[in-house]
Amino acid sequence: MPTTEADKMTSAESEAASNGSTSQEVILSVPDSRPRGILRRWGLTLLAFSAAAISLPLTSLNSLMQPAPIDPHDYGARAKDVLSKTPLIDGHNDLPHLIRVELYGKMYDGSFNFNDKLLGHTDVQRMRKGQMGGQFWSVFVECPEAHVDIDDPTHLVRDTLEQIDIARRFIHEYPSTFQYCDTPSCARAAFKSGRIASMIGIEGGHQVGNSLGAIRQMYDLGARYITTTHNCDNAFATAASTVAAGGEDKGLTPFGHEYVAEMNRLGMMIDLSHVSHQTMRDILSITQAPVIFSHSGAYEVQKHLRHVPDDVLRSIKKNGGIVMAVFVNRFLNMKNPDQATIHDVVDHIMHIVKIAGWECIGVGSDFSGTPAVPIGLEDVSKYPDLVALLAERGATDEQLRGFAGENLLRVWGNIEKRGKEIQVTTKPNEAATGFANSPFMFRSTREKSKNLKRVPHNFNVNNKGIHAPGN
Ligand SMILES: [Zn+2]
Repeated sequence: MPTTEADKMTSAESEAASNGSTSQEVILSVPDSRPRGILRRWGLTLLAFSAAAISLPLTSLNSLMQPAPIDPHDYGARAKDVLSKTPLIDGHNDLPHLIRVELYGKMYDGSFNFNDKLLGHTDVQRMRKGQMGGQFWSVFVECPEAHVDIDDPTHLVRDTLEQIDIARRFIHEYPSTFQYCDTPSCARAAFKSGRIASMIGIEGGHQVGNSLGAIRQMYDLGARYITTTHNCDNAFATAASTVAAGGEDKGLTPFGHEYVAEMNRLGMMIDLSHVSHQTMRDILSITQAPVIFSHSGAYEVQKHLRHVPDDVLRSIKKNGGIVMAVFVNRFLNMKNPDQATIHDVVDHIMHIVKIAGWECIGVGSDFSGTPAVPIGLEDVSKYPDLVALLAERGATDEQLRGFAGENLLRVWGNIEKRGKEIQVTTKPNEAATGFANSPFMFRSTREKSKNLKRVPHNFNVNNKGIHAPGN
């Protein structure tokens, strides 16, 4: 049937078939198909014109809505932009210590409102103004005043636990401002949610009772770094202050080697601020993970023994660690501390960067832990000014991001990762300081036991295994 055949034809075939054909079906099919093709083409053209007509204003509107590119010489604007995208994480703030010594750890009686402007360097308003993204809160307890032997009992572990408690309660008290974190990924997530990631660091090996077991428990309570010494030697290492006072730099002790191994295994950050130069070198020669300086400067810039000498900065570069720049006047300008300025801090940073590279620099103020801070860095609101000055000295935005927080998060992540690797093959370290000479529990138990009959008195059972409370 012609009709059926024509129906099966394509329009080209219909045109070919229509040449000389009189078939109505075929003829009809041709004029019918042409106008449709023309209409479709015109329709598409119209559509394209309409789309262009609509999209042109949209494009220009879009470009209007995009922020104008930042003038690379507008250092303040660049600093603000960088800190809006990258968490600025300070390595060291002693506010929990102030809460202990000034408020006796009491935060609920109305005398302490962290949202109001407080005296001192740190409060919420100024942290927000300073575009802070994270803070390692130091849980610091003073070095013992008198010399204590390695196994002498002290209150330091209890006090440190109380400081961890203060830091955790303080963080918990301001949930819309702070988020407690014990991993780098948590710190990033806190920043994204608009809160200030809050971590815990212990400022002194003297605070752990010379015990690797206590370190493990403090890790479980959330502490993520230990400053290997404060201003006193301990079972692990020699402090810079000992050497500054004329003492011998003995570096790391044999037990300090066990400390380093256990810190590496835990994935806990070893902090070398406050230690002697030999301790820095000894630890860098054996550590299996990167190390940090939570609040230090460059020894070459200011010859304070607490600062990091150039050979150690070179080792830090190889080690993949980080030096976080300190703001303490007497470390920045030993001759005239009152004249220390933000520019001194920049000089330290630029020297560390010159020797160790932009990957190894961060910020660790010591705000609320030192009475005197530099002109231009009066409190936690001033970080953007420091970032702007680094931009002015030639830092790229990527380098600024590293300085602000990316370097620390990378180093911390690598330490965490290394710990997990070590844990696959290594059990918790059971090394302990000389129990053989212990003046308390073990020795006295051993001596007493010489005069005791072997009765199972410990469990209050008689020698037939029957519970007998009176025994
Ligand atoms: Zn310190």
